[in-house]
Amino acid sequence: MDFNLSDEHKMIYEYGDSLAKTYDRKYWMECAESRTFPKEMYQQSAQDGFVGTMAPEAYGGAGLGLLEMELFTEGLANNGIPLLTYIVGSVMSLGPIGDHGTEEQKQRYLPDACAGKTRFCFAITEPNAGTNTMKATTIATKKSDGRYRLNGAKTFITDWVESDYALVVTRTTPFEEAKKKTEGFTLFIVDTKAKGIEAQPIPVSIPLPEMQYQLFFDDVDLGPEDILGEEGKGFEILFECLNPERVMVGAIGSGIGRYAMGKAVEYANDRVVFDRPIGAYQALQHPLAKAKTEIEMASLMTRKAAWLFDKGEPSAAEANMAKCAAAEASIHAVDASLQCFGGNGFTKEYGIFDIYPMVRLFKTAPLNNEMVLNYIGEHVMGLPRSY
Ligand SMILES: Cc1cc2nc3c(=O)[nH]c(=O)nc-3n(C[C@H](O)[C@H](O)[C@H](O)COP(=O)(O)OP(=O)(O)OC[C@H]3O[C@@H](n4cnc5c(N)ncnc54)[C@H](O)[C@@H]3O)c2cc1C
Repeated sequence: MDFNLSDEHKMIYEYGDSLAKTYDRKYWMECAESRTFPKEMYQQSAQDGFVGTMAPEAYGGAGLGLLEMELFTEGLANNGIPLLTYIVGSVMSLGPIGDHGTEEQKQRYLPDACAGKTRFCFAITEPNAGTNTMKATTIATKKSDGRYRLNGAKTFITDWVESDYALVVTRTTPFEEAKKKTEGFTLFIVDTKAKGIEAQPIPVSIPLPEMQYQLFFDDVDLGPEDILGEEGKGFEILFECLNPERVMVGAIGSGIGRYAMGKAVEYANDRVVFDRPIGAYQALQHPLAKAKTEIEMASLMTRKAAWLFDKGEPSAAEANMAKCAAAEASIHAVDASLQCFGGNGFTKEYGIFDIYPMVRLFKTAPLNNEMVLNYIGEHVMGLPRSY
């Protein structure tokens, strides 16, 4: 066993720092507050090979794994920069297209996406089904000419309008007719500008450069060439998307938690109240030390989950634990940091409170911690299902 990062892994981890020297938290916040995609930063990361980290080299990617993507994301988040597009695009779309796409799909989509010329997003959540994905009703119906018509609705889809393509989770067999509840799902690669799609923005109270949208599909024309993998067998690919998504939340949560604590330590060493630096007061020091412990544990589990995934071994238990741990740890880290700053924590100048909505999001999305704990209770520990 070796817990040290290899030289290549160190370089990838440190790349986040170097990218953040040019595109820092101030740049990211300006993008977030104006709801503008940070295209210069994204373009630079694409040029340096990081957008296509998980895509095969033959199609413009780096041919690396989830661990490398995790390290890059964690390194960037250590500097206060979380970008959801790397999750829904680089990891949940480009990786699976590289693994399951046809030759034609790989040639058509990967080189441009890896180069940052086009972007992908990922659509699974539905207004009625919510967390219960099995009850998704967005349906692609096969017609006599062999083509499909997509109908239904999705909600909270990050970056839809600004992206070029999306992986859309559909049912090709309705829930009621499927032999097993996981059967009858099909993933389609959809042109976000296709006829029959209406996208309405959902304003959210989180500083984020990417927008979220509610979508309505009305007889959107799709062909068999748009299916990723096999018709009706999308659920297996879906799980190869969802565990990495949890790992990426682990990476961002760990990094953002460190960023907040780094700011707090600097401030608490400097700020003197009652003749001593406030960092000496254990009421401030211990919550920070506890959060630091939680963050480093979350980061370790996150990296382990990524490593298992790359080896093709089961990683769901670790990915869920990592996601849950990082979501909780980052909330504790930001809260402990905020307390150190006193009133300054709530100012735009210090920008600490601005970090909170993002870390709090991770307790609810992409999968709420309750469902994560349900999974661990039932599937990892063998307790009865509660729902
Ligand atoms: C900013 C943002 C970006 C997003 N981006 C995307 C995206 O790009 N693509 C996408 O597909 N989706 C996206 N989502 C959607 C997100 O994944 C969902 O909001 C999330 O999965 C929760 O689903 P829901 O909102 O329908 O909550 P609901 O299913 O209505 O659940 C509400 C609450 O009920 C509780 N709950 C539900 N079921 C159980 C249970 N069995 N046991 C215990 N408690 C339970 C949980 O606490 C949960 O938070 C995004 C959401 C946000 C806010």
